[in-house]
Amino acid sequence: MTYATMNDTNTALLEPVESALQTPGRLRDKFGRAITDLRVSVTDRCNYKCVYCRTGNEGAQYTELAIADYLRMARLFVGLGVEKIRLTGGEPLLRTGLVEMVQELAGMRTAYLPDGTPTENGVPLDIALTTNGHLLEGLAQPLKNAGLSRITVSMDAVDAETFTAITRVPRSFDKVLAGVRQAQAVGLGPVKVNCVLLRGFNDEQIEQFAEFSRREGVIVRFIEWMPLEEDRSWKRETVIAMDEIVARLNAYRPLVELAPHTASETAKRFTFDDGVGEIGIIAPVSRPFCGHCSRVRLTSDGKIRTCLFSQSDHDLFGEMTRGGTDAELDAYIRKIVMRKEARHHIGEPDFEKPSRNMVHIGG
Ligand code: SAM
Repeated sequence: MTYATMNDTNTALLEPVESALQTPGRLRDKFGRAITDLRVSVTDRCNYKCVYCRTGNEGAQYTELAIADYLRMARLFVGLGVEKIRLTGGEPLLRTGLVEMVQELAGMRTAYLPDGTPTENGVPLDIALTTNGHLLEGLAQPLKNAGLSRITVSMDAVDAETFTAITRVPRSFDKVLAGVRQAQAVGLGPVKVNCVLLRGFNDEQIEQFAEFSRREGVIVRFIEWMPLEEDRSWKRETVIAMDEIVARLNAYRPLVELAPHTASETAKRFTFDDGVGEIGIIAPVSRPFCGHCSRVRLTSDGKIRTCLFSQSDHDLFGEMTRGGTDAELDAYIRKIVMRKEARHHIGEPDFEKPSRNMVHIGG
């Protein structure tokens, strides 16, 4: 099948926008990209040791802050125009105080109208969570009650044996499956199920994932593996790129492309010819979407990262502990966001590994 060209790839053409340097309004970088999406890692700890992410020998490497500190930072970002907050880690469900944090976030309101005008009558934030699902069965209902909008569960196989080989935690598959089903049952559905495909490891499961989406009513999203692992094992040949995934799915059953929800949507979306099941493909390696990037990240130790592939991070927590007022911290955030990178350089000769790996940034 043919499908429309992915959103972007014009990032090399991004030019600084003069007005972005002058307006005091909503948060923008120097290329004029509005920053509306904040990802907050609430812990550097993880209870899985996924083979494509971690070495299996290292534990947490960075501290975690009090929930009140993350909330103050979130409030500052919301005041500057952030509308969507994704909680991540490490493994966020390991974090004490997470449910209360969601409850506080649910009380916040957006500060700008869609046209960029400041407003006192904003709407609730979109609050999302990315988890490995191991502890989800017991936490789905409390998180829903606290005001969580939606949830993404990482699941890199649909059979117990491969799942254990990837996570290196025995009996993990049944727990995660129960978590997914419970999240669906309490109204957090449709759950998004993220799968990183690795050639020779779990790529024979593409069709089974399609069946899983159709059977369980979840949105399966295949993500191209990025060079963000702890042990520097990334090779382009191991990545299963979007074209190959589309061809395989289309041979299984004809795909029908779905319209994007927004211009900055990272996934290319498909259903099948009978309208049952939904598949998203996120292709940062073969089809970068940096030109539409609306994200910044906060690490568990309170550093701002302007790109997954940044060579350094920026110490917002340090500014806070030095007694920064809200106005000073706003100015600091604006200054750092101005330095957001135009794009990543995966697969190019000048590519440099970022200063942190995925598990220590927050995916
Ligand atoms: N522990 C949580 C989880 O498993 O979802 C949140 C953190 S985890 C780092 C977030 C997501 O990043 C997971 O979906 C994981 O599969 C994905 N991920 C980890 N390393 C990756 C890589 N090198 N390339 C692409 N995705 C990666």
